[in-house]
Amino acid sequence: MSQIYLDNNATTPCDDSVIEAMLPFFSARYANPDSPHGMGKDSFAADEDAREELAQYLHCSSSELFFTSGATESNNIVLLGFSPPDGRRRVATSAIEHKSVLRPINHRCRCGIDVQEVGVSRDGVVDLGCANALINEDTALVSLQAANNETGVLQPVEEVAAIAHLRGALFHCDASQLIGKLPIPNWFDHCDYLSISGHKFYGPKGVGVLVVRSGLPRKCILPLHFGGDQEHGLRSGTTNVPGIIGLTAACRLAAERVADDAASIAQLRNSFEVLFLQRVPEAQINGVNAGRLSGSCNTTIPQVPASMLIANLPSLCIAEGSACTSGAPEPSHVLVAMGISRDDADCSIRVSFGRQNTVTHAETAVEMIAEATGRILDASIDDGSKRGNSIKGETA
Ligand code: PMP
Repeated sequence: MSQIYLDNNATTPCDDSVIEAMLPFFSARYANPDSPHGMGKDSFAADEDAREELAQYLHCSSSELFFTSGATESNNIVLLGFSPPDGRRRVATSAIEHKSVLRPINHRCRCGIDVQEVGVSRDGVVDLGCANALINEDTALVSLQAANNETGVLQPVEEVAAIAHLRGALFHCDASQLIGKLPIPNWFDHCDYLSISGHKFYGPKGVGVLVVRSGLPRKCILPLHFGGDQEHGLRSGTTNVPGIIGLTAACRLAAERVADDAASIAQLRNSFEVLFLQRVPEAQINGVNAGRLSGSCNTTIPQVPASMLIANLPSLCIAEGSACTSGAPEPSHVLVAMGISRDDADCSIRVSFGRQNTVTHAETAVEMIAEATGRILDASIDDGSKRGNSIKGETA
C-alpha cells in the first residue's frame, strides 16, 4: 500500500545529494581520520573540510563543533556533564522540552541540583515573566528549545538567553527542530551550547552536533565517557566521517534552499489546516496564534482518540503526540503544559510537512483524516446508544 508520509518532525528522508556525498566514505575512503597513513590523511582532510564548511553555516568556529550521535546525546552531554563553575545550584528549563532534556535534568535533580520549570501559554510559548522570576543569581544553566517538536511553536530564545546571561547563567538551546527548517537566526551566536541533529533536516540518522562556544570555562562540561580523546576529549569514539560529511551536505542544501522550502511548506501546511477545519470544524489547531515551524500542525479532534484514528489510517504516516514518546501511555506533557485537558491531549495528532510533500498529499490527508474521524464518531454514537439502550433495559 503506498504511503503518504507527513511525519517530518519525527525524521526526514535523507536527500539524494546527501547520500551521494556520503557513499565514498563507506567504501573507498573508509579510513580512520586518526590513522597516520595516506588513507587516514585523506579521511582527516575530508573531515577537516567538512568541519570548516559546517562552522561557517552555523556561525561558529570549527573548534567549537563537537560531533555526537544526535541531539539526544548533545543534550545529555550538556545537561549531565555540566558542572556549575561557581557553586550555583539551579538549572532552569521549560515544561515542554524534549525528554532528552527533561530526563537528564531530572536525573541531576536527584543529585542535588534544583530544577526550575518555566511554564507556557495556552499557545505553547514559554512565559517570559515566569522565566524572569525563576532565573536568578543561583541559576547555573538555562536550557530552552528553539522550536517544539509536537506543536512546532517557536520559543523566545533570544529573550531567555538574555535573561540567563544577565543573571550570570550559561544558556543551552536544543535547536534540533529549527535547523534546516528556518534560516539560521541572529540569536544563534548568543547560545553558549547548541544541540543539532542530522536526520531532522534531510541528513543521516546517528549524527549530531554540540556547539560549545569557546571562551567558556572549559571544565564546565565533563565528558560522559572516556576513550580515544576524539572531539577534544569531550566525546571519545572513532570519528563518524560519513555522518559528518552527510550532515554537512544537508547544511549545504539548507543554506541553498531553506527560505524557499520554508515558504512552500508553509503554504502546504496552511492549506491543509484551512481544508481540514472545513471538513472537521470541531477540531482545534494547537499553537495556532504563535509563530510556528512552517510544516507543523498539531490538532485536537475532540472525542477521537489519536491512537484509534491512526489505527484507522494505515496508509497515512502521522504522529500521535511526540514520536519519541509514542508507546508511552501518558498524554503529551507538552499539550498538558499548554493547559489542554488530558482527554483532549489523547485526541491530538501531529501532521508535519516536509520538502518532499505535495498539495495532493495535503488534500488526500484531509480527506482520509476527516473520513476516519466520521467513522470513529459514528461508531461511538452507535456504541453509546446501544449501551444507553441496554442500561435503560436493565433499569426497566
Ligand atoms: N530534541 C528535540 C526537540 C527533538 O525533536 C528530538 C527528536 N525527536 C530530539 C531532541 C532527539 O534527537 P535525536 O533523534 O537526534 O537524538
